[in-house]
Amino acid sequence: MNLAVIGVGYVGLVTGACLADVGNHVSCMDRDAGKIARLERGDIPIFEPGLDEVVRRNATGGRLTFTTDMARAVCDADIIFIAVGTPPAEDGSADVGRVLEAAMEAVRYIDRDVVLVVKSTVPVGTCDRVRDAVQALLRTMRSPWKVTVASNPEFLKEGSAIDDFQRPDRIVVGTYDTASLTLLRALYSPYNRNHDRLIAMDVRSSEFTKYAANAMLATRISLMNELARLAEKVGADIEEVRRGAGADPRIGHHFLYAGVGYGGSCLPKDVSALSRLAADNDEPLDLLAGVQRVNERQKHLLFEKVGKVLGDLSGRTIAVWGLAFKPNTDDIRDAPSLVLIRELLAAGARVRAYDPVAAPGVAAVIKDPDLALVGSARDACLGADVLVVVTEWREFKSPDFRWLAKTLNQPAIFDGRNIYDANYVQECGLRYFGVGRGETV
Ligand code: NAD
Repeated sequence: MNLAVIGVGYVGLVTGACLADVGNHVSCMDRDAGKIARLERGDIPIFEPGLDEVVRRNATGGRLTFTTDMARAVCDADIIFIAVGTPPAEDGSADVGRVLEAAMEAVRYIDRDVVLVVKSTVPVGTCDRVRDAVQALLRTMRSPWKVTVASNPEFLKEGSAIDDFQRPDRIVVGTYDTASLTLLRALYSPYNRNHDRLIAMDVRSSEFTKYAANAMLATRISLMNELARLAEKVGADIEEVRRGAGADPRIGHHFLYAGVGYGGSCLPKDVSALSRLAADNDEPLDLLAGVQRVNERQKHLLFEKVGKVLGDLSGRTIAVWGLAFKPNTDDIRDAPSLVLIRELLAAGARVRAYDPVAAPGVAAVIKDPDLALVGSARDACLGADVLVVVTEWREFKSPDFRWLAKTLNQPAIFDGRNIYDANYVQECGLRYFGVGRGETV
């Protein structure tokens, strides 16, 4: 098929590249000229494992092209995906302005009947708005073409996006008519062979499904974080509790980790947008308000722990491992590391931070002479008093604890992801502070 993808970010680029990889012709359009110029040079603007290879293969094969020109992008497209951002507005709702804008602009240049697929995460009712605005535009333009809107929320996870797209748990498709469902079913058939993963539904339910899923994930994390705080107070180890509770198949082990709070470009904004939608419909989601409060508090946990152990932080040097909101991505949107670093700097501390890929993003948003973004995990610890682990990158999982014990001035590890064996770390000569376990501060 001929496809256009509008918005070439984490979702749009992965979608475009993967759909080209199964033989479609995909034109990716973004209004960010710098991003498109980089892509045209074969330079991938985001870090996502395996993405560069898929992009290069399909660009070289002539199936994947990049443009800032909407007319060129959509002129021969059968399906147009909208994958632009839906950032939070001031009142916490999702700002769908870019979605409407992109849809309207795309429709101006179509030269055939098209299905316009909203892949961005949008509040319930947005596709109705897009449909009505597009129909009004088509009437004004006296266009001979028909545009059918569909909802197809994306569930890929940054860090494993290619695999998630190619081997999805589910493909949710919300349609107003059977013809677009048939077309989308055909488009997704390469990923739907082993068993039927495509879940077809009405458009509003499809929009809601994405928010419901993220609300549940956020709730799971915040509940674990609250339980971790209590575990610490009552002398239980949340890691043992996690293993015990997760063994019940109704609970499961996935996504059940206590830590420093959820971040990234999706959970915080989607939970907030769903809460806003609920309030606007006089159906406040009390539980989600708590989930958000717990998460905000959790992001300060590491700073509080470090302060309790070291006392006055001014003039202290803190090593920080991990800046991205999770491993295997360079995304720092709403990352807990930013909260920690800003608090440490405000308290007069110096920070030596290392992340395999996310440092440039942090350098762009925190400009402070007391923040050194260094080139290796070891380098971060040179001259540091203590070490704080914020993101559980694989390369941090088995450090040389004895070297750390010799190197850190006040040998202590604050393990924001509970990735270390507390007893072993202590045997190696370091104090250990996890989340919801071990030495209480
Ligand atoms: P992103 O910020 O990485 O990319 C969005 C892109 O859209 C940018 O390159 C921007 O320049 C472009 N853009 C904005 N307005 C435009 C317009 N009018 N015309 C053309 N291009 C335009 O965003 P993302 O992380 O890829 O997220 C996109 C959507 O997908 C959001 O609604 C998000 O909630 C949702 N989503 C994201 C993820 C994720 O892991 N990042 C997962 C599932 C769903």
